[in-house]
Amino acid sequence: MDQRNGFDLRKYIRSIPDYPKKGIIFRDITTLMASAHGLRACVDELVWPFLEVDIDYVIGIEARGFILGGAVAHELGRGFVPIRKRGKLPWKVIGKDYELEYGVDRIEVHADAIREGDRVLLIDDLIATGGTANAAIDLIRESGGELVAAAFVIDLPELGGSRKLKEKGVKVHTLVEFEGA
Ligand code: AMP
Repeated sequence: MDQRNGFDLRKYIRSIPDYPKKGIIFRDITTLMASAHGLRACVDELVWPFLEVDIDYVIGIEARGFILGGAVAHELGRGFVPIRKRGKLPWKVIGKDYELEYGVDRIEVHADAIREGDRVLLIDDLIATGGTANAAIDLIRESGGELVAAAFVIDLPELGGSRKLKEKGVKVHTLVEFEGA
């Protein structure tokens, strides 16, 4: 029987070598999300530092950031704003291009979703190179939003994303680390 004390999130995360391509170890959180204890422990730990912090709403990045961001927003008693991949949002959008290993991708948010002075908490499942989170942070800041913090379940510190965010003055909250890419 799992005890809450000493509960290890890492053992619920499935590691898949050479997916989606050779040399990458995919850290699959579907196994963590599928566990009643895993999901609750994970959301509790994401929410914990922000329980008494002034936050207007939570922003999550498609797609795994929606599962976690929605739960975190609910726990904080706040709303949720989605950042989506190109072409998915139905109304006027603002967007940001960011570099992938091969080529460029784009994330978008509704143009009226973030207003001047809004205090937001950004959520995604994992930070690797930080390219995705960085683009999201630029979108938030360019819209006049104030980023309170960025929170992720998994940090891959060797890829440098969390370090780069901290260097930009972002408060970063992560729950577990894995070595390698
Ligand atoms: P990055 O922009 O390099 O920080 O990559 C972060 C985004 O890509 C997140 O939305 C992750 O879901 C996904 N991602 C990157 N690397 C991995 C990995 N090794 N395992 C699972 N997801 C990953």
